[in-house]
Amino acid sequence: MPPKRKIVRAATSPVRPEGSPARRQRTLDHEADTERKSQDQAEEEEQSGVIQRDFYPPEMSNERCKRYLNGDLPLPIDVLRKALAETKTQREQIQIGDAVVHWFKRDLRQTNNRALERASVKAKSQGVPLDYQAHITSAARVDFELRTLEVLKEDLKEKGIPLYVTTIEQRKDVLGHILTKCAEWGAKHLFCNMEYEVDELRREARLVKRGLEKGIAVEVLHDDVVVPPGILRTGAGKHYSVYSPWFRAWTKYVHDHPHVLEPSEPPTRNPDSAVERFREIFSMPLPSAPPNKTLPDAQRDHLSHLWPAGEHEAMLRLERFVEQKLGKYKETRNFPAENSTAMLSVHFSAGTLAARTAVRMALTANKSSSSKDPPNLFGGWVSELAWRDFYKHVLCHWPYVCMSKPFKYEYSDIRWDYHQEKFTRWCEGKTGFPIVDAAMRQLNSMAWMHNRCRMIVASFLAKDLLIDWRLGEKYFMERLIDGDFASNNGGWGFSASTGVDPQPYFRIFNPFLQSEKFDERGEYIRKWVPKLAGVEGKAVHDPYGRGKGKEAEEAGYPRPMVEHKFGRERALERYKEGLGRGTANVGGGVHN
Ligand code: FAD
Repeated sequence: MPPKRKIVRAATSPVRPEGSPARRQRTLDHEADTERKSQDQAEEEEQSGVIQRDFYPPEMSNERCKRYLNGDLPLPIDVLRKALAETKTQREQIQIGDAVVHWFKRDLRQTNNRALERASVKAKSQGVPLDYQAHITSAARVDFELRTLEVLKEDLKEKGIPLYVTTIEQRKDVLGHILTKCAEWGAKHLFCNMEYEVDELRREARLVKRGLEKGIAVEVLHDDVVVPPGILRTGAGKHYSVYSPWFRAWTKYVHDHPHVLEPSEPPTRNPDSAVERFREIFSMPLPSAPPNKTLPDAQRDHLSHLWPAGEHEAMLRLERFVEQKLGKYKETRNFPAENSTAMLSVHFSAGTLAARTAVRMALTANKSSSSKDPPNLFGGWVSELAWRDFYKHVLCHWPYVCMSKPFKYEYSDIRWDYHQEKFTRWCEGKTGFPIVDAAMRQLNSMAWMHNRCRMIVASFLAKDLLIDWRLGEKYFMERLIDGDFASNNGGWGFSASTGVDPQPYFRIFNPFLQSEKFDERGEYIRKWVPKLAGVEGKAVHDPYGRGKGKEAEEAGYPRPMVEHKFGRERALERYKEGLGRGTANVGGGVHN
């Protein structure tokens, strides 16, 4: 965790907060919030590093969340839509320059890429070369992205298309750099795909406007999702906040609008003159990872072997999955030892595979093998893929989830713990709960974890240990190779019962029972916790509780760090207390 910072109790300060009106409002909102919360609680949250203080005030107030929902504050996606709509006519009048630029973000592929297709068509219409810029985003995936960029750079080079890659230290300098480069290359058109996080939406809205001031037409398209956010509404015209009806609407929409699954054309070859003109970019080496994100060689080799990069590998993996595993997915997907899921999330996150490519291929395979009934076609794997779309829709319409605030903002008052040592034991897979430890060790080794196990460890952290779920969310983003803000936040919110369409707070996973149910023979546990490899039978799920404590102890496997029954009751009390349904205080009982 980051070093401790002293919290300034703004609520008692008579000084008018400084900064922009929006910043002032956020600070005032926060003041109200820290009044509501106890000073100790606010201070613990602050010191835990749970809030990204570089970007946001300590915590947004519930009032401000409500203002987003009742329309008093504009949604960032609407700000971008407005910027695009207001500038449309002027942007259309801009004559093509000496090049057209596509800005790669989380769409690191040339196949089936909406904005890239538009950029290529634009360039071809006037015979000017296409040029590219990519940026490195999440640090957790830097290595995978760099390996992907190597593939992309080679593929594009074969078409005479230069890929310019740079690292920009300060986020605030990104726009200026892009526009400067466009001017340098004589480009009057810049294309990119939309990212749905608050900062990115706001940034692109600024890019559209600042681009126009400089005579550059910026176009931002939907690509990452199958059905763009905002299209699906309830009968009452509201945004869906429950998955099942949303998925029914999603299914119907895709069925009625098959064009959303139509692939985009890859870019065509650049004229030979482009190779000469952009010779310098072609010969530029890719930047290396920043020092704090550089993997040790052994780990890099290990991850390169596990997760080959680039869109060709993504396609191969998809084809193999559809051919060999799709048919049995529904029955096997919950069992981590089965190795039956697609393991494609890294490709969806980096954009080396478009979700519509996967949906299209799965539907085609389903059509030829089973039911002709559309709802059945859309079941199983496709419905899991649709969760990606759902969580991005949530990001757009409840933007405060990007600002460390739970979707159910009324759950903000739950008192979480910030016990460093317990958190570390969870991170390192030393909790004494074999299924939790196996899962955390899988994460630390593979930079990936099976979905069932993600739910188990998240529930364990938030409910058995009562540690602020946002610390777990952050740890996942720091470790996962497929780290995706929307899906990660959604998954944590589900498991901690604070998110959209969550597990009810009183439904608390029993890790031992989860283990017996989903890893019946203990294969997953024995693989990831070799110290328990010799523990036979069901005892592997709970060696200390099932008469194999001596063996476990001799092997150096720890005792459970909390008694589940106690943890469960304490969590129920704390959740009720936070929701104002009770005030009982439970103490003691935690094994350190
Ligand atoms: P499959 O089972 O083969 O599913 C296919 C695809 O559907 C996945 O690749 C993924 O893109 C999507 N998908 C499946 N389940 C979900 C889901 N519950 N939510 C959203 N999309 C889903 N997924 C991420 O991509 N990035 C994350 O950072 C992430 N964090 C998570 C954190 C928690 C606490 C939980 C409970 C889930 C999280 N997920 C995340 C969702 C899910 O666990 C992974 O997408 C899945 O395990 C990836 O493996 P797969 O490709 O084999 O999935």
